[in-house]
Amino acid sequence: MARIGENQRPQAPHVLLFPLPFQGHINPMLQLATFLLSKGFSITIVHTQFNSPNPSNFPNFHFEPIPDGLSDGMDTTAILSTININCIAPFRAVLARMLSENRHGPISCVITDDFLFFTQSVTDSLKVPRIVLVTYNAIGFLTSSRFQMLHEKGYYPIQDPKSEDPVSEIPPLRIKDLPIITTSTMDATLQLFVSLTIATRASSGLIFNTPDCLEQTTLANLRLDLRIPVFPIGPLHKFMVGPPDSSSLLTPDNNCMAWLAKQAPLSVIYVSFGSTGVMDGADLAEMAWGLANSGQPFLWVVRPGSVSVSECAKLPEGFEEETRDRGLIVKWAPQQDVLAHPAVGGFWTHNGWNSTLESICEGVPMLCSPRLAEQGINARLVSHVWRVGMTLENELERGEIERGIRRLMVGHEGKEIRERIKDLKENVNCSIRKGGSSHQSLDALIDLISSF
Ligand code: UDP
Repeated sequence: MARIGENQRPQAPHVLLFPLPFQGHINPMLQLATFLLSKGFSITIVHTQFNSPNPSNFPNFHFEPIPDGLSDGMDTTAILSTININCIAPFRAVLARMLSENRHGPISCVITDDFLFFTQSVTDSLKVPRIVLVTYNAIGFLTSSRFQMLHEKGYYPIQDPKSEDPVSEIPPLRIKDLPIITTSTMDATLQLFVSLTIATRASSGLIFNTPDCLEQTTLANLRLDLRIPVFPIGPLHKFMVGPPDSSSLLTPDNNCMAWLAKQAPLSVIYVSFGSTGVMDGADLAEMAWGLANSGQPFLWVVRPGSVSVSECAKLPEGFEEETRDRGLIVKWAPQQDVLAHPAVGGFWTHNGWNSTLESICEGVPMLCSPRLAEQGINARLVSHVWRVGMTLENELERGEIERGIRRLMVGHEGKEIRERIKDLKENVNCSIRKGGSSHQSLDALIDLISSF
């Protein structure tokens, strides 16, 4: 073995990270990367051309773009399937080159999103350990990993998406909480989840952006089942070193902070349905009138492209005059700063996992309108397990929205929810302090990476 001479300093261990190119997956991966950098690791980010992060926001990282061969108009399932085929050769080439060049230090391991399952066979063949990052929660992963069983048992295709019947194999889920998969994408989705599960089982470790205190039982079951090291280290945004929106694909409109400063404490409902969902013009109108009729001040994110182009993407006539004095609409918000603002008293959310965690960390009660993927599972935990929010159970409808906002913002139920989320916030924030469970898991993760 080569010895390091007196004048030579050992090179920092080098970790290569590869996020799935969607906002909700990029954020936690880059948060983890900034944390590892702060611990002395050298960092390379491999990324697709589609939704590429902005390297100038991360001057201390090395970036390696790879071609993805994606074309316009693909749905999420098609994007996932295509990336897992088209990126094999370019990823292998980048990794092989970096291993032979050894330019930024010896590569200790590769950390990739669980949906980038093709990376397992590439890292196996090049003899580099792969650790998997699951950017959603443990019960969401458990559901994905049991998708084949759910399919075989007849849960899929879902016959009645409103059914309250329990999914006895994954308590406390009901059929209506399961991700809705259209018949046309069923086979491709099944293939994706089977491949994802096999590749994750073959990996050297599994990181969850969730703290132990939120999902103790599920995490314990997964540990028994998977037999690889499991690291629940969330909420990762709390370990982020640097500005919270550096990994944002859109530019946040910071003017909303001055507007929030003029609002009364806990009076504003913040509304955002995340980075990917698309609604139609009718949903937009129901949301607008529900907000207007609730009488509450609101800050509403209407993302460009979030209303389908074939529909009338305009706000309904009369809405802007009616709400001018108490509403603000932005294209993209500095969400973490917004949720931390004292004027914000509630978050009407689609329950993407990042948004859910960010809301808990700031103690903001949630009104839940899950729309796709594992959002229904998250809404179930929020409203029925932790009881820190309430779910709008039906399609978006102005009367139900108006009542929901009032119940959350000014009703006695809302007050009870606010008390409960204060306690939950405290528990979650404890987990990231020294000695807390996420802090310990991060230490264990660093030990594992250093041992390779
Ligand atoms: N986000 C933001 N500004 C917005 C809306 C969302 O910065 O106006 C961020 C939010 O803080 C979160 C991410 O985008 O970190 C969305 O991830 P999430 O998992 O909640 O939902 P997804 O977009 O994946 O559906």
